Amino acid sequence: MTQTPPVTRQDFDAVMAPNYNPAAVIPVRGKGSRVWDQDNNEYIDLAGGIAVSALGHCHPAMVDALQAQSEQLWHLSNVMTNEPAIRLAQKLVASTFADRVYFCNSGAEANEAAFKLARRYANDHFGADKHEIISFKQAFHGRTLFTVSVGGQPKYTEGFGPVPGGLHHVPFNDLGALKAAISDRTCAVVMEPMQGEGGIVPATAEFIQGVRALCDAHNALLIFDEVQTGMGRTGHLYAYQAFGVAPDILTSAKGLGGGFPIGAMLATEQVAASLVVGTHGSTYGGNPLACAVAEAVIDQVNTPTLLAGVMTRNQKMRDALEALAAETGAFREIRGMGLLLGAEVSEAYAGQARAFLTAALEAGVMVLVAGPNVVRFAPALNIPEADLDQAMERFAVAVRKVVGQSTAAA
Ligand SMILES: *Cc1c(COP(=O)(O)O)cnc(C)c1O
Repeated sequence: MTQTPPVTRQDFDAVMAPNYNPAAVIPVRGKGSRVWDQDNNEYIDLAGGIAVSALGHCHPAMVDALQAQSEQLWHLSNVMTNEPAIRLAQKLVASTFADRVYFCNSGAEANEAAFKLARRYANDHFGADKHEIISFKQAFHGRTLFTVSVGGQPKYTEGFGPVPGGLHHVPFNDLGALKAAISDRTCAVVMEPMQGEGGIVPATAEFIQGVRALCDAHNALLIFDEVQTGMGRTGHLYAYQAFGVAPDILTSAKGLGGGFPIGAMLATEQVAASLVVGTHGSTYGGNPLACAVAEAVIDQVNTPTLLAGVMTRNQKMRDALEALAAETGAFREIRGMGLLLGAEVSEAYAGQARAFLTAALEAGVMVLVAGPNVVRFAPALNIPEADLDQAMERFAVAVRKVVGQSTAAA
């Protein structure tokens, strides 16, 4: 057997495009909510690969589904259909507002499909003038040129122009601003029910209801980007179910595959009808391996017990974070839904959320940031409560260290 030489973090800088700056350690193994690096250091994972690992690492039901499918059929393309794709679509339709599903491979692709469908639908029913898309400041919808342009963070489009036209951005949770911007030229309004990358900012119930009403008044489609909030993340299968407001189109990815790449666009019958044969597609979309894994994920997630467990864990984490905020003064607000929580740093640590992430990793717990001021948590939905307790203890150690250092420096 030939021995491959070990690779290191330094090798990354030699061969990878410089668009990422990953942590100094390289994880090699994960089980449940624990991860081990090349040196066998152990971490508790409260990041979940950015709200992806809904059931933790190497969940037996997912491993079984992947192994079984890997011995049956890997790929055919969309010239043929396959059993896992049809079954997964049936499950998504049975559990949501949607009648139709389109599969792709990522969140950006799901949104790309949603935006194209919204334009096509408006074109079919109202004519080409109805093509404007309204989205919200601080929104994130992916990194393709169309999706970054619809997203509300100018830093992601800088230098990539010209960008697609007909796009408007208004402040989130500001119904007056939307009312001023929407018109009969608007084909769709797209929003995250809770902004993820933008800092863990939930929509208010009044806002989300008002957006629906404005869309209806102007024959505009309402698109919910649930790439981050979907698949049980908020304690509901999809977050819109907490608000009692259904969209016309919904996009899902991240947790849907639990770590295997897949995206989906869900739509009503009437809207999906505009995506006639030949209008859109993807070579890998609906791949049997991805759909078999996602089917195992939805079977595990979409149960009253698991979803109730998300709420229990939400309270536990909130209590721990509130106590830590009171003790250290590091955080001014703890917010979020289900197991997608944010701790906004207080004035003294403005712009320094990443310092808490770095200290947390050193203390053996993986967390995320959402912008410069928010530490974000997206653990597995089934994280054992003992792991969660231990993770919060480790995070407390990290926060006390950051606070102590800044006190010492002052
Ligand atoms: C992550 C994310 C996306 C992009 O998903 P990718 O799989 O990275 O393309 C889109 N929308 C939201 C809300 C997200 O959180």
